[in-house]
Amino acid sequence: MRRWLFWIFLMLFVGGLVAVPGGNRVGVRVADGFDMPVGKPNADGYYMSRGFLSYHPGEDWNGVAGGNSDLGAPVYSIGNGYVTFAMDARMGWGNVVIVRHAFVEAGQLKTVDSMYAHLNQIMVRKGQQVSRGQQVGTIGTNRGMYTAHLHYEIRKNLFIGINRSAFAKDFTNYYRPSQFIAQRRSLPGAGQTAQIVVNTYKTDQPGFVFPPGGGDSRGAVKKKASPARSGNFRVNRFDDVGY
Ligand SMILES: [Zn+2]
Repeated sequence: MRRWLFWIFLMLFVGGLVAVPGGNRVGVRVADGFDMPVGKPNADGYYMSRGFLSYHPGEDWNGVAGGNSDLGAPVYSIGNGYVTFAMDARMGWGNVVIVRHAFVEAGQLKTVDSMYAHLNQIMVRKGQQVSRGQQVGTIGTNRGMYTAHLHYEIRKNLFIGINRSAFAKDFTNYYRPSQFIAQRRSLPGAGQTAQIVVNTYKTDQPGFVFPPGGGDSRGAVKKKASPARSGNFRVNRFDDVGY
């Protein structure tokens, strides 16, 4: 029985490696559960300063000591996964890491992206496999734009990337982050490998060039411009300001 499982998993794993040159599928270790991205595993020493709102499809987490006391503190991947984005997206985002996770729920293989934003430091690279609880960066301020905090999101929709303005900020595209984690602390599938689709963001497409100053703009569905938002780029500074 165990030998049989071993060969199945080996084939899945090798299949994943072979698929890499094609660019669209990779093998990833299935997440055996999820933990909080700060104060691992239970967010000890942190509190949620801003929750999921119609204009803020994620959560902000701060150290209980307040101010910039959490600047430089570690940010961890919520589960096993594959880094799909790791760079300075400028604008309201700053340094961003996105990890794609495969997990098994109700007998089905599912995928989500976890996003970690405003990081002071990025400690992984795109294309890297990461483990549950592995440090991916440190808490930052996005060049002094905010008091230090972690903004994180969990997306059902694997096409969002840093192009958030093109997608509805609701539960068709997102999970409520801490609720998602609380309900999935322990999952089946430990030790298994699954095939996931990658290179799904606009920024992954051949020829994509970041506009001067950063990301969230080209090809986005433009909303009606208000005076505060006029200009060439959709800036999510106003969506995601401060705490
Ligand atoms: Zn935020």
